[in-house]
Amino acid sequence: MAQQVQPIFILPEGTQRSVGRDAQRTNIMAAKIVAETVRTTLGPKGMDKMIVDSLGDVTVTNDGVTILEEMQIEHPSAKMIVEVAKTQEDEVGDGTTTAVVLAGELLKNAEKLLDQDVHPAVIARGYRLAAEKALEVLNDMAEKITPKDEHVLKQIAMTAMTGKGAEYAKEKLSDLSVKAVKMVAEEDSTVDLDNVKIEKRTGGSVEDSELIKGIVIDKEKVHAGMPRVVKNAKIALVDKEIEIKKTEIDANIEITSPDQLQAFLDQEEKMLRDMVETIAKTGANVLICQKGIDDVAQHFLSKKGIYAVRRVSDSDMKKIAKATNGNVVSNLHDLSKEDLGFAGQVEERKIGDEEFTYIMDCKNPKAVTILVRGGTEHVTNEIERALTDAVGDVAAALKNCRVVAGAGAPEVELAMALRKYAESLSGREQLAVQSFADSMEIIPRTLIENAGLDPIDIMTELKSAHSKKQKWAGVDVFTGKITDSWKKGVIEPLKIKTQAVSSAAEVAVMILRIDDVIAASGSKGSGPKMPPGMGGEDVEY
Ligand code: ADP
Ligand code: MG
Repeated sequence: MAQQVQPIFILPEGTQRSVGRDAQRTNIMAAKIVAETVRTTLGPKGMDKMIVDSLGDVTVTNDGVTILEEMQIEHPSAKMIVEVAKTQEDEVGDGTTTAVVLAGELLKNAEKLLDQDVHPAVIARGYRLAAEKALEVLNDMAEKITPKDEHVLKQIAMTAMTGKGAEYAKEKLSDLSVKAVKMVAEEDSTVDLDNVKIEKRTGGSVEDSELIKGIVIDKEKVHAGMPRVVKNAKIALVDKEIEIKKTEIDANIEITSPDQLQAFLDQEEKMLRDMVETIAKTGANVLICQKGIDDVAQHFLSKKGIYAVRRVSDSDMKKIAKATNGNVVSNLHDLSKEDLGFAGQVEERKIGDEEFTYIMDCKNPKAVTILVRGGTEHVTNEIERALTDAVGDVAAALKNCRVVAGAGAPEVELAMALRKYAESLSGREQLAVQSFADSMEIIPRTLIENAGLDPIDIMTELKSAHSKKQKWAGVDVFTGKITDSWKKGVIEPLKIKTQAVSSAAEVAVMILRIDDVIAASGSKGSGPKMPPGMGGEDVEY
């Protein structure tokens, strides 16, 4: 290390720098702390976290990525771990805790190798080889399903929700998730998760949650005189205001007689009336407008019996268009019959003390809404998160048609296969691949620990089952016994596992390869605050 050298000022004053083993140790430590934090939430018996933000708002959750986001982590390499969770969330929607815990364990085991003087570049290479092999092994062990295997899809949704706030209504909610995903799936089985809208309403119970074949928006009809229910709705979707635009520049209109004023007002009214006429002529009986609707236009619309809502968000406009198979039109004069969307019913409903517009009973909707009900906001929020996981998992399974059983089975199988693979390698990379293999076992071990069971005995049993070719042997966290997790119905999409392994490996390698942290003065990363003696003491240059 270079501490003894006379200071040479290369970097601006106040820049903090840590190098070599110090930098590695600090980075690994930070990553491990993050992983350790979420580890206790893993699995059906995982605990929840309560996070209180600076405004005093409370979140109670079991969801890895939510915890990490709410924690507002600042340490730069800890942040990289948070990114892993976010990638997992974006790619699959579930498995965030798994990915983070794996990354933490990979780094922890790498540190042991560093202590044995294995060069980080060697570890990195070994980890890369192991990750590649792991994907192969996972692909080989996965089972094929078809979109018709609804039972399996339901089990996938239930597995995603086990141990979450949604637990006690998981039968119902998994049914809704599978139906929703299947409805919006394209012909090639791809699913745009944006097309499954999850709306929350406090009040009622989780059992009252329902799937709407269409979209629910938190808007009321603009005029009391409009019908509350429209059957066989023909929906005009307009993203321009139904108003007379005020001129951009100040214009003075000189009016010299009351007649002129009347004529002016009449003119404005006529324009609005024409706009409404144009809409009505297409046969529309519902108007969904992204912008404002003038009071006078509202009056005319109501006289025509048209149900109208205004200021609908852009994303909702798109979803409604998808659900009703209509087109969003910018220019009223272009609006034709063919642009209209269709819904069996459009209705204003009051839930609690708020009004909502239900656009429902759409034919073959490509966007749907799951309406989540629950006693309190904390409950509906946590159910929403569990549902998002379930919907993501079902979509991933539908898309790749490949699934694995969970409860630790794939990880033990992976560890075994990787150890065998390590034997085929020589030199120190072998050590790294072995460490990678060991790291996989953190998942079953954590599931066992979180259930308050004895990890040593159960892990031994589990491994022995796998060596007897029981590839789906997993841990029943409720009894502590080894069971066939496929038969138990603990099923997850293959993608959860492949994504978790590859992004965990990627971040571990990236962090391992850092041997120098140069942080500008005042930057958040300038002071990895480590306890003394932990190697985090920064050298100021
Ligand atoms: P993540 O954020 O990684 O999805 P979870 O808390 O959802 O974390 O836990 C997922 C883990 O729990 C997976 O390894 C999965 O196989 C396991 N798991 C889910 N349901 C069960 C079950 N009924 N029995 C045992 N393990 C289960
Ligand atoms: Mg999960």
